[in-house]
Amino acid sequence: MCGALTAAVLLSGCQADSPPVPPTPSATPSSTPSTAATTSISLPDGRTARLRGLGGARSTPMIGRLSAELPAAVAAVTGFWGPDWPREIVVVVTESTEQFRVLAHGSPDIAAATTADGIVFAPGAADMSDTALRIVVRHELFHYAARGQTVADAPLWGTEGVADYVGRPAAAAPGPERAELLARLPEDTDLQTTGAARSLAYDRAWWFSRYIADRYGPQTLRALYLRACGPGHPDPATAVRETLHEDIGDVLVQWRRWMTG
Ligand SMILES: [Zn+2]
Repeated sequence: MCGALTAAVLLSGCQADSPPVPPTPSATPSSTPSTAATTSISLPDGRTARLRGLGGARSTPMIGRLSAELPAAVAAVTGFWGPDWPREIVVVVTESTEQFRVLAHGSPDIAAATTADGIVFAPGAADMSDTALRIVVRHELFHYAARGQTVADAPLWGTEGVADYVGRPAAAAPGPERAELLARLPEDTDLQTTGAARSLAYDRAWWFSRYIADRYGPQTLRALYLRACGPGHPDPATAVRETLHEDIGDVLVQWRRWMTG
């Protein structure tokens, strides 16, 4: 399973066009219980989503926005992962950074995180554009769907790269200059630091997933995820060799070439 931080969408990494999440005045989780409310919606494929807003001006409108995003997000996740994932989706929208810290162990620069209890949105997510929120919802919903096949020490290039593959829209090849910068599998520490380095690491993981899906097909990317991030996973080079039947060095060279466009 993913830890809260490893499952998080990091604004700097996933939404290059999004402003940073501004800090929200702190409040204790117990300060707004009287306005907390749960909304249940039925999704087109028969799943149910239970969205719990922890009350107040920020979380209430978010329930409506998330409800509108979920049907297409479910379709995107199932389109890649298949239908075998939990039938009930639990979403919590926090009203304060303190609530988010307590429920998701999330830091203020994170928009959302997926925990054992569901997908938890930070209050700052309310300030995101619809486009950015759409990415976050799909990214987190993939984490939610894949939790059962994802171990705690799964490499983040796999978990975050594939979540971004599901969440982010396609883009034109980055070109020769960026390809040189991007064509490197990020280490977990790269994805856990703050600032521009983390954004670059997310881009690297995302482009690698995109390349695998484009060259070998989405089902091979799924198979690589299961091998690299699932129970008893080997090191990345072994997971790549077993899944793609190629040496990781060769794969990285071909990836760099593909990104030059
Ligand atoms: Zn994530």
